[in-house]
Amino acid sequence: MSKRSDAGDTACAYRRTGADPIRDISRLKTLTDREKEVLLLLGTGLGNRQLARELGIAERTVKAHVARIVEKLDQQTRLQVAVLSVLAHELLCTDPRCACGSAAPRQSLVGASLVGASAV
Ligand SMILES: [Zn+2]
Repeated sequence: MSKRSDAGDTACAYRRTGADPIRDISRLKTLTDREKEVLLLLGTGLGNRQLARELGIAERTVKAHVARIVEKLDQQTRLQVAVLSVLAHELLCTDPRCACGSAAPRQSLVGASLVGASAV
């Protein structure tokens, strides 16, 4: 007899599937510099042809890099690897001018007020 659990319906997808991209971030250190470069590009969502153009290599070589990265990071798909790439952007990025490394504070809402003219 199976009874649908209300709690199960709202369980976090990470908890339900056992997936946790953050857990696998420690595997990044097994990648070569070139693989890290490919991984960072994967996070942009570009296809193999565009990645090949960006890297100045053959599409076939891109596919080989991607397959190796998926394997080294113990993932099953390039999409999982792309998610990991976005989460780890700050660790992978070496561009000092990239906003990912910027400590620039975001516009704060703390001082904002929804109140108009105050009563006198
Ligand atoms: Zn960056």
